[in-house]
Amino acid sequence: MDHFLYRDGVLHAEDVPLPEIAAAVGTPFYCYSTATLVRHYRLFDEALSGMDHLVCYAVKAASNQAILRTLGALGAGMDVVSGGEYARAIAAGVPGERIVFSGVGKTAEEMRVALQGGIRQFNVESEPELRALSEVAAGLGKVAPITIRVNPDVDAMTHAKIATGKSENKFGIPIARARAVYAEAASLPGLEVVGIDVHIGSQLTDLAPFRAAFGKVAELTEVLRADGHDIRRLDLGGGLGIPYTRSNGAPPLPTEYGALIREVLGHLGCEIEIEPGRLIVGNAGILVSSVIYVKQGEGRDFLILDAAMNDLVRPAMYDAHHDIVPVVEPAPGTEARPYDVVGPVCETGDTFARARHLPPLAAGDLVAFRSAGAYGAVMASEYNTRPLIPEVLVNGRDFAVIRPRPGFDEMLNRDTIPEWL
Ligand SMILES: *Cc1c(COP(=O)(O)O)cnc(C)c1O
Repeated sequence: MDHFLYRDGVLHAEDVPLPEIAAAVGTPFYCYSTATLVRHYRLFDEALSGMDHLVCYAVKAASNQAILRTLGALGAGMDVVSGGEYARAIAAGVPGERIVFSGVGKTAEEMRVALQGGIRQFNVESEPELRALSEVAAGLGKVAPITIRVNPDVDAMTHAKIATGKSENKFGIPIARARAVYAEAASLPGLEVVGIDVHIGSQLTDLAPFRAAFGKVAELTEVLRADGHDIRRLDLGGGLGIPYTRSNGAPPLPTEYGALIREVLGHLGCEIEIEPGRLIVGNAGILVSSVIYVKQGEGRDFLILDAAMNDLVRPAMYDAHHDIVPVVEPAPGTEARPYDVVGPVCETGDTFARARHLPPLAAGDLVAFRSAGAYGAVMASEYNTRPLIPEVLVNGRDFAVIRPRPGFDEMLNRDTIPEWL
């Protein structure tokens, strides 16, 4: 459920008509709903009620500090995958004790910053990383709390580019090697083992892969405890999918996911952490764009928008589907027609949809890409020297620009010309 609904024939973000925002900030822009963010965070929080738990929002899905602050104020933790994300979470007011640090390539400098600024745990992904972290922590006179990310060799049944839990993926250590790696971790001076971490992929639309992975984690917990490790925390990663189309079957709900966690892992008495990103922010954000031209092609019409693949790369990168809707609701009975929906970037890959049925549209009309909140703004680039588009946060009848559109001066001034030119 989200808070982008038609009212009096005009698409609103909560209580704000989108044309009002478009007039104020120009198009294209990303628009997020506070009410949807809050609702989705609470769904997870409530799904784990009765178990000691922390919902650590995956910052990489949408990392604007206003979003982090909104979630942090509700008590959310954060899952970060870089020093930059760590800095964002801290700047947004989230205390280090609620930040977990994931990722396969943490540098010594990133480790140092997190150890000094405060960290809940590092999710370690390899043996070399274990040794490096121990050295950095010991050098600072600190002990780093860690889990080790295990790769359970489970097929997440999702897009190949976002599956992470198969043995051929770069993530985690093979679960079969876990005992040896935990033994090494326990022997290193700068580390304290607190638990186990697993994350098998993103946009999962079925609970079965989660069940398989969590079952392996449950078994491993018993084995590691028997080996003498104090396994008291299980970080189960993120990955629960969202409906990108209204027509497809709905993915499992957070309540069902929570019930599965309770069923498979509840008896272990561990503190549970989860790291949802997409489900919290995906349907809490849309991308609003204007039609620049409608161009007649051979057997098809092109809807040329002012948004492009550099603003929303998911269709080009993952063949992702986004529902596209007109901001002004068509009159009942209006006949839809097929359009190829494209952006202005000089690449054929800059195609959002082919033969998409939409009501007749004309230059200047506004359209909205639904479900664009996750892996949207964060993956944007300035390709074709197109400015990063603004982000807007709505809260009831209020809206605020939470990242302004940079001017060309600001973009151009980042280049520096060498002396010899
Ligand atoms: C990307 C990622 C997540 C979030 O995944 P979603 O599909 O957005 O829920 C959580 N944990 C880790 C380690 C990740 O890499």
